Amino acid sequence: MEIRIERTTAPKQKPADESKLGFGKIFTDHMFIMNYDEGQGWHDARIVPYGPIVLDPSASVFHYAQECFEGMKAYRCADGHIQLFRPDCNAKRLQDTHERLCIPKIPVEDFVEAVRALVDVDRDWVPHIDGASLYIRPFTIATMPQLGVHASTMYQFIIICSPSGAYYAEGINPVKIYVESEYVRACPGGTGYIKCGGNYAASIAAGEKAEKLGYSQVLWLDGVERKYVEEVGSMNIFFKIDGEIYTAACVGTVLPGVTRRSCIELLKSWGYTVHEGKLAIADVMKAAADGKLEEVFGTGTAAVVSPVKQLDYEDQSALIGDGKIGPVTQRLYDELTGIQWGRLPDTHNWTVRV
Ligand SMILES: *Cc1c(COP(=O)(O)O)cnc(C)c1O
Repeated sequence: MEIRIERTTAPKQKPADESKLGFGKIFTDHMFIMNYDEGQGWHDARIVPYGPIVLDPSASVFHYAQECFEGMKAYRCADGHIQLFRPDCNAKRLQDTHERLCIPKIPVEDFVEAVRALVDVDRDWVPHIDGASLYIRPFTIATMPQLGVHASTMYQFIIICSPSGAYYAEGINPVKIYVESEYVRACPGGTGYIKCGGNYAASIAAGEKAEKLGYSQVLWLDGVERKYVEEVGSMNIFFKIDGEIYTAACVGTVLPGVTRRSCIELLKSWGYTVHEGKLAIADVMKAAADGKLEEVFGTGTAAVVSPVKQLDYEDQSALIGDGKIGPVTQRLYDELTGIQWGRLPDTHNWTVRV
């Protein structure tokens, strides 16, 4: 793939204080864009100055949400080099997403090359301070200017980047989770296993409700029986019960997280038994009552791991460990962030240099 590069003539001021970056609020100087038109395929790959895009108001994305995205990061290592973490996994997941949404696929190599080229052009934007990183948001939108409900014949694939602060700027604080038994996130045959914006639009109501009740996230149960644990907010979720690890299987309603997969691979390499399958919320609450619920944590690119200290389900409350991050959760956090920031040897070949 050939990428045309048009550099900005008006570079923006970079944030002076990297400890105040927050998440997803400021954007770098450039963006990657590539178009798809029926008959031409994906074409016109380019890196151009960051700015608004012009779309017809009838573009399908605005009406029928033919839209999807990815989320990944670039990390600056102590010696100054910049690296990505398993970008091929994001590329493959985007292909699965495109397939479900009837969007033509982008070759894995082209996706990785586009991310690398953009991060290279904006490399001075990759934060320097500990824990901060460059968040990368690739996304695809249907741009065909027609109101019929059909697969679009025109798309844009765009990548934008946002320097983002350390997720745990104030240290790792375990969170309180509300087990949602009214709203559902995903059903068999639906879109729970892909990263499409529509899943998020449908989840906002539950998130707002949980926030009002004083919780930081929602734990989603399966959409059919509302019995089995699936995900927490926009993270996968793991439970350590009586020495063994449990997480929902990726069978159509659970997003196959890159962090989830990496945690499973690490846990197995450390000798843990990892069960990927159905785990009833009733069994989780019972394990807590029996003193066997040792650790609970979410996993995702933004937080890496997010320890849970309390689960509230209907009128029951489960308190986990002593309210502090558990040893396995901490070990996963240290190992993954160590590899991502180049402090530990990358024995799994997970990182790719920019
Ligand atoms: C993105 C996402 C995750 C986490 O995936 P990672 O690849 O680990 O960042 C988990 N659940 C949902 C619903 C997601 O959208």
